Amino acid sequence: MADYQVADIRTIGIFGGNGSGKTTLVDALMYAAGANTRQGSVNEGTSLSDTDEEEKSRRSSIRTSCLNCSFGGKNLFLVDTPGYMDFWGEVIVALAVVDSVLIVVDGTGEIDAGSRRIWDLAREKGLPISFFVNKLDKEHSGFIKALDGVRNELGASLIPLYIPDGDHPAFSEVHSLLDENAADKIIEGLRGEVEGFREKVVEAAAETDDSLIEKYLESGTLQPEEVKEGFRKAFAMRSIVPVFSGSALQGIGIKELLQGLSDLFPSPADRGEIAVGDDMVRPESGAPFCARVFKSINDPFVGQLSYLRVWSGTLKSETEIYNSTSENKERVGHLYLIKGKEQIDISRALPGYIVALTKLKDTSIGDTLCETGKNYQFLPLHFPSPTALMAIYPKSRGDEDKIAEGLRKLIAEDPTLIGTRNPMTNEYVLSGMGEVQIQIVVNRLQKNFNVGVELRTPKVAYKETIKGRGESKYRHKKQTGGSGQFAEVWMHVQPYTPGAENAEGKGKKELIELSWGGKLLFVDEVVGGHIPAQLVQSVKKGYLAAVKRGVLAGYPMMDVTATVYDGKTHPVDSKDIAFQIAGRQGFKESAAAAQPILMEPIMKVDVSVPTEYMGAITGDLNSRRGRILGMTPAGTRQIIQAQVPMAEMLKYTPELRSLTGGKGIFTMEFEGYEEVPANIAQKVIAQARKDSEEE
Ligand code: GDP
Repeated sequence: MADYQVADIRTIGIFGGNGSGKTTLVDALMYAAGANTRQGSVNEGTSLSDTDEEEKSRRSSIRTSCLNCSFGGKNLFLVDTPGYMDFWGEVIVALAVVDSVLIVVDGTGEIDAGSRRIWDLAREKGLPISFFVNKLDKEHSGFIKALDGVRNELGASLIPLYIPDGDHPAFSEVHSLLDENAADKIIEGLRGEVEGFREKVVEAAAETDDSLIEKYLESGTLQPEEVKEGFRKAFAMRSIVPVFSGSALQGIGIKELLQGLSDLFPSPADRGEIAVGDDMVRPESGAPFCARVFKSINDPFVGQLSYLRVWSGTLKSETEIYNSTSENKERVGHLYLIKGKEQIDISRALPGYIVALTKLKDTSIGDTLCETGKNYQFLPLHFPSPTALMAIYPKSRGDEDKIAEGLRKLIAEDPTLIGTRNPMTNEYVLSGMGEVQIQIVVNRLQKNFNVGVELRTPKVAYKETIKGRGESKYRHKKQTGGSGQFAEVWMHVQPYTPGAENAEGKGKKELIELSWGGKLLFVDEVVGGHIPAQLVQSVKKGYLAAVKRGVLAGYPMMDVTATVYDGKTHPVDSKDIAFQIAGRQGFKESAAAAQPILMEPIMKVDVSVPTEYMGAITGDLNSRRGRILGMTPAGTRQIIQAQVPMAEMLKYTPELRSLTGGKGIFTMEFEGYEEVPANIAQKVIAQARKDSEEE
């Protein structure tokens, strides 16, 4: 392998909507660079990038895949990401490991919601962005249409760099605007603008360097090499957004794109120092080693593979490194360069390299790896809250352990999948970014772990509380033969308000945080030893048992103050169990008299749709008992902010898709609990009582 310097490395993320042609483009690039002897095909299942059986059968990427090739003396690392919103986590991870972004759009001029989000995120991260207008060989596609689409949607200041000679059917090649004679070769509608574009390119180039500006002002032009160098700097500084064009399927514009990636895209050295937590690391081969793990997969042939991006220093095979996140030493055996499903043994990796290590002991996605003696720590990656939730039920009894083991492994490979057992509903809920993502987990459980599971809509985690005050004097008495039980507890309950535990007043107060997120303020106002201290603790135990199942429908209770202020004892029969029972029953009686209500989880929802769907979406959210909080325009889209009960959002992903023809996306996070309106509460309570009778 050639002896590359850091300045020769390009680490580029390929992003874009589903079906825009990312994978075909990556295959075409690999073929054109001579890294593959024939062009892989998504349609024939021979793509280098779609390596997984699931991907081949869906003909669509569901995971990020990494490729490597050399071209023009440069070492190119390509990170091909999935376009589905379901795999948004892969996009976030990819953005964290690349130095520049290429967004693939097709020639229809329509920018999908995902591309818009990638644009926003890449800008937030300060990454240089470029576009590739693909599928220009297709009917109804057009280069100018696509440029206008991107400009209108993203307000981007695009500089078309490679322009086609015409639209379908007159499209056959692309020409560089850096070529002074491009004007008579390119698409008609842009010919008049060529000079303007050329000037923009030259100006952007000149602006990066004072001596270039001077030269340009004096002579009115620059040498091609100077333009190229200036363009490279302007792109690295994010002052221009270059646009390439072509057809990945026909292999048109691909060599030109490769040339652009090698000549114009930034290297880690251009990017310079980066922050790793409180430290700065330098992209130099001699600096201390620092890398981050961004992907972990179970390869059928080599076992556990951890993918990492080197940020600083040189990683060598057969050495020892330190995982500063898990605080463990790790042994580096083989070091692999990744070409889709192929792994190539190499001996060292420089800043910018994406490589894989096998059989690390205690290393997961997101971890920082560094030289022994260093303690670099990348800040954790932030993923959006899940928008799809499904309850998982085993198809056959006895499979529970195998399912748990399979889920544990699959969840470890995808940071946006969260699996939790809901203690309130006793369901195992798998949450993620979409139903396709969850369905794939089910398929993998079947295929790789040989267990069948069924997906059901999860039960909503309702809770109960009280709105008023209720009292009781409960006597528990049991006298059967020898040893009897006697307890009398005088008590009252009322809503807990935050801070009440610190308020002045009688009695001893103890605030207890309940495992399901509620609070119980226990107040002991008993005086004169009417209930001995030890038995007051028994009363508390009774309360704690009672709050687990509310009086309306058996849902756990949140935020209650329960006070015991007096009671009676019996010299022989007053014992722990008696006071527990009296505490529990007394609590139930008081709560039933204190206006008990049902509470439901409320989600904060942001829906992003093209403006024409705004009315339909707000109407639909209203019908879901949603409260619209506001609307914010973003390009040709509107983001509608609302609060909606979770019960109404459980199947929103497919419903939003059908309302907007797939053009809407949403995010959702838990906001808090609110009272369920009476008419709906009645139904929920009736259903819960029916369910508990059936159990
Ligand atoms: P991805 O989901 O972005 O990775 O898209 P793919 O690479 O899987 O391509 C989706 C579909 O578009 C496939 O059927 C490709 O053959 C087709 N496709 C990709 N690039 C082109 C192109 O340049 N022209 C035409 N006509 N079809 C293309």
